[in-house]
Amino acid sequence: MRRMLVPAVAVLITLVPASPVAAEPQQKVPVAKGYGGAVATVDLDASKAALSVLRKGGNAVDAAVAAGAVLGVTEPYSAGLAGGGFMVYYDARQRKVFTIDGRETAPQAMTSTSLEGIPFAEAVTSGLSAGVPGTVANWDLALRRFGTISLKQALQPAIEVASKGFLVDQTFHDQTAANADRFKDFTSTAALYLPNGAPPPVGSVFRNPELADTYRELAKRGPGWLYGGQLGKDIVATVKQPPVTPGTTRNVRPGLMELADLRAYRALMREPTKISYKGMDVYGMAPPSSGGSTVGEALNILESLPEVGLHEYLEASKLAFADRGKYVGDIPGVPLTELLSDGFAKERACLIGEQAMKPPVAPGNPDGSYESCAQPTGSATPVADEGPETTHLVVADRWGNVIAYNLTIESTGGNGIVVPGRGVLLNNELTDFTFGPAPGDPNLPAPGKRPRSSMAPTLVFDDGRPVLAVGSPGGSTIITTVLQILLNRYEFDMELPEALAAPRATQRNTAQTQAEPAFLGLYQDQLTARGHSFVSTPEIGAATALEFLGGGRIQAVAEPTRRGGGSAMVVVPTR
Ligand code: GLU
Repeated sequence: MRRMLVPAVAVLITLVPASPVAAEPQQKVPVAKGYGGAVATVDLDASKAALSVLRKGGNAVDAAVAAGAVLGVTEPYSAGLAGGGFMVYYDARQRKVFTIDGRETAPQAMTSTSLEGIPFAEAVTSGLSAGVPGTVANWDLALRRFGTISLKQALQPAIEVASKGFLVDQTFHDQTAANADRFKDFTSTAALYLPNGAPPPVGSVFRNPELADTYRELAKRGPGWLYGGQLGKDIVATVKQPPVTPGTTRNVRPGLMELADLRAYRALMREPTKISYKGMDVYGMAPPSSGGSTVGEALNILESLPEVGLHEYLEASKLAFADRGKYVGDIPGVPLTELLSDGFAKERACLIGEQAMKPPVAPGNPDGSYESCAQPTGSATPVADEGPETTHLVVADRWGNVIAYNLTIESTGGNGIVVPGRGVLLNNELTDFTFGPAPGDPNLPAPGKRPRSSMAPTLVFDDGRPVLAVGSPGGSTIITTVLQILLNRYEFDMELPEALAAPRATQRNTAQTQAEPAFLGLYQDQLTARGHSFVSTPEIGAATALEFLGGGRIQAVAEPTRRGGGSAMVVVPTR
């Protein structure tokens, strides 16, 4: 009896929402606090899907897959089943961090020279840039290893949203308008996303019945339908012969993908990267992403400095990007342990002075011997173009499992080509390879290779317990966005919502640091005096994060304004 009384009261108080039918918020809110599980995504429908899975007893992985599938409908220019991504997942029962690499791969026919000499803009909208999709294999592996529901169940919310439709917001409208010029050049894409020849108006309901059917068939037939079956055949046919609108003058290069490439695709479990920072453990995504190694190296550099401010943030990032360019790619023998060693960090940190180093700085020597403080003399690899748009979500459940999940189709709108009859855009992830010629570059294409990513889903632990999850879209700015949020939280003592909302700058070993106007307004003068040079950019990243506040309470956080603002929800809200 004594055992029953107190918990029963507590359950009544905490589990009965104020209004039992006000199940989910009907509007985006960027911050939510409470118990029993939490989610943050860029999108209301995706967050709702995750919340409903959590409420029905699903775990964080179940909810992340359900939300990811919905994002394929409502954020189709950032994510989709023909794309790829990375999951960093903490399994509370096993007390262990796992990562899944669902990155797209190059077809077997692709070689180090396949992209050489091709103008970047031309590769962006082509069959050639479409990588073998990894997302469905990623979902399937995640659910089989860690989930409690089937892929079929996880796809149900997405099927519903695709068939019933969603409200077109300003972001969706603007992204369609920005793509209209190339969408019109493909019959399938124009028919879906330019109904009546124009982007769908804000406030209209957008339905994608073909995508609903694609998800239904996938639910029924399983991943083999893509990895060797009819959906795979349709993708290969589209890649090889894109459905170009008659009369278009665009030079659309066909791709090299074969059904055998799809058959051979595997999502892979990888060891996470891990560094210690201010007594906490920070876990990230290992190659083929450069997210974990670059965020980790920069944090190590900063930790070894006596003082950390924005100048140091920009300098550490500059150095870490130099090393990323030289050493990180989907190749054997990336010197990950050395890149993430304290010795190497100290050697790099030693180069940071009162005045900004002139970019590009040379990469260091992660060779295990760290005595010198001389600027190395090698040449720096320029940061290649990477599309600015993907998406990131975080979910925690009542058991303490946490997932940070980045998914993408690379450019906003992927390669611009909808698979006819299937309602889904193809990715153009292979543009993340170095085009070359670039002898020795770790990121040149090769058969079956995965292009280097910047995606940085990140989990932070204190005393072995998860305390924070964070990630963002933004191509190579993902790395600096994650880094800056961590610094805002742990160096500059901001609360997590403030840490996400704060104005951003990104220094990636480029001549100028890109910065949001609000950042320039606040800090440009002081940083220019220290030798930094800036260029203004309207917006950097669209992060999502969550933090454990103690006693089982969670705070989920999305962007208040960037990319139209995101959607945070908790299972049992509290103030
Ligand atoms: N292609 C990018 C990467 O893998 C992700 C998409 C983006 O945000 O640009 O790093």
